[in-house]
Amino acid sequence: MKLIFEKSSPGRGGVRIPEDRISEHDIIPADLLRAVPADLPEVSESEVVRHYTKLSRLNYSVDTHFYPLGSCTMKHNPRACEAAAALPELCATHPLWPQLRHGGLLTQGSLQILYSLERMLAEITGLDEFTLQPMAGSHGELTAVMMMAAYHRDRGNRKTHIIIPDSAHGTNPASATLGGYRVVTVPSDETGVMDLEKFKKALNDETAGVMLTLPNTLGVFNPEIKEIIGAVHAVDGLMYYDGANFNAIMGRIKPGKLGFDLCHLNLHKSFSTPHGGGGPGTGPVGVCGKLRPYLPISRIAKTKDGTYTLDYDFPKSIGYIAPFYGNFAVLVRAYAYLLMLGREGLRATSDRAVLNANYVQEKLRPYFAAVTAGRCMHECIFSGKTLRNGIHTLDLAKALLDRGTHAPTIYFPLNVPEAIMIEPTETETRETLDEFCAAMIEIAELSKTDPDALRNAPVTTPVGRLDEVAAAKNMDLTC
Ligand SMILES: *Cc1c(COP(=O)(O)O)cnc(C)c1O
Repeated sequence: MKLIFEKSSPGRGGVRIPEDRISEHDIIPADLLRAVPADLPEVSESEVVRHYTKLSRLNYSVDTHFYPLGSCTMKHNPRACEAAAALPELCATHPLWPQLRHGGLLTQGSLQILYSLERMLAEITGLDEFTLQPMAGSHGELTAVMMMAAYHRDRGNRKTHIIIPDSAHGTNPASATLGGYRVVTVPSDETGVMDLEKFKKALNDETAGVMLTLPNTLGVFNPEIKEIIGAVHAVDGLMYYDGANFNAIMGRIKPGKLGFDLCHLNLHKSFSTPHGGGGPGTGPVGVCGKLRPYLPISRIAKTKDGTYTLDYDFPKSIGYIAPFYGNFAVLVRAYAYLLMLGREGLRATSDRAVLNANYVQEKLRPYFAAVTAGRCMHECIFSGKTLRNGIHTLDLAKALLDRGTHAPTIYFPLNVPEAIMIEPTETETRETLDEFCAAMIEIAELSKTDPDALRNAPVTTPVGRLDEVAAAKNMDLTC
């Protein structure tokens, strides 16, 4: 594509500003004005509109294509939730507005939404209290580890490490380390869950807690979870539930009821906020009753007369972990989503996510090496080692781009060689899944019959195969 500068032609323009009435000298002090005018492209308005519209179409998004990126839950987000977040009554408020003024109406509605959302999240996770402040899943993890540390300090426990299985998301060990703990990694067994015997060897009186993703990043639900939780509680350790995969069990299982003490949810994954590209997130953290005193301040409270206030009176709190009350618009989307779906809807969402993943798993099983012999949860994982003639998972990912599909997550989890991690999500139709599987199968067959057709993929995208290391180190955003 041509650069907008290359389309410039002297004298062409869009907006006409009447020069005789406004001069830059009137508004900008002379010492701040450039001596030489900026070299801006001179283009017509229609050219500018076309240029940027074409650029926007180079974007890959859930709104345009299937996006089966495992572990990320790149699902469709209902437009109704966007509309709710954009209501002027909500998005034009400011966190510094007083809570009570003009009859208490100024921010009462916003506080009520936050309060109700906390209650809903507590209900669906089976935990007692929630903070909505953390700005991402990883931030929620750190908040939780800080609360774990506060709990152990309070009880005079000498705790030095946190146990994390090797299939965990990289943020788990990072959060535990930032929170001041040593990380003890436990490998997975052949079924894909944390090896129980090795776990028991790692567990001792100095274990502050265990961080578990359930179902884990391999899409497997750990059948020994009750035994693990019992063993951790026996040494006064705390069980942390990484809820990034919550759309696999919503409405079916409550982590709190299983015995987990803390959990975070990724509202930008499971609860209707579009993400990717570093967009806003929110990672609320729920805790059981014994951790309540350590929650961040401020807490939203409901008074006897039914008004909402902010309560700062928590002497054991870990303090502030985010300004104000978190990413408010993300919270409004989640609130709207929960109201819209209700109990039955949430359950149907999870059922559908798991069904879709199993559908893809069984369709692809004859062509790729599935990691799980039986059913998976919301995502399925294969190894691309069945590809032939030196074709690797990376080639497959690139060839999928030519077939109109974003690549699944590849080379993660790290304990699966040539990993291909597919999360179809609940919002995709059977037809889309069929098209995707057909493309995967075609590529598997081509690796046997015509591998050269795959080595140069992608050939239909604006930019072909990149040297990814060089591209990251010497970024060129104008080619
Ligand atoms: C995405 C993810 C996280 C981290 O969440 P962010 O919001 O990206 O910080 C943690 N654990 C798992 C399993 C995840 O998939």
